[in-house]
Amino acid sequence: MDKCYMCGNSLEVIRDKPYEYTESGLNVLLLGITQYRCGSCEEEYAAIPAPEKLHKIIGLEICRNRKALLLPEEIKFLRKEMNLKSKELASSLGVDESTVSRWENGRKRVGEGSDRLLRTLYLSCTEEEQDRRNILEVLKSFPHHRKEIGERQAISLNPQDWLLPDCACAV
Ligand SMILES: [Zn+2]
Repeated sequence: MDKCYMCGNSLEVIRDKPYEYTESGLNVLLLGITQYRCGSCEEEYAAIPAPEKLHKIIGLEICRNRKALLLPEEIKFLRKEMNLKSKELASSLGVDESTVSRWENGRKRVGEGSDRLLRTLYLSCTEEEQDRRNILEVLKSFPHHRKEIGERQAISLNPQDWLLPDCACAV
């Protein structure tokens, strides 16, 4: 990449600055990503390798390690990663479609049971087979009767977190 898509001017390379991966809809910081900045129109670009694998790792990070109730944007992210429409997720969880919409726009807090079932769905679709038995351990690690959704702390990822040499996705 050497020319700005917007104005055609040449781009300056930026290294060593965490990339705010706002495209995910989440607070995710990607470390070690080369970025480009147009000195003329100030447009910024980044080359994100293996985005599918990256999304999988972000989803796993949310499901395993976010101990508070899921945030609205986390629910939306997980649903989209599973390629489910709101209606499909709603019928899988046994709730109304409007309930899913309200979780995702922040007007209603997700319940304890739906939170755990949604994580279980994602993990069972996504975890490698040898890790699936750990789903129970993940669920047991959450506090009971959670009342609060999470804080928007950044998920920071290094390239090696998703670009493993033996991963077929990392091309
Ligand atoms: Zn430009």
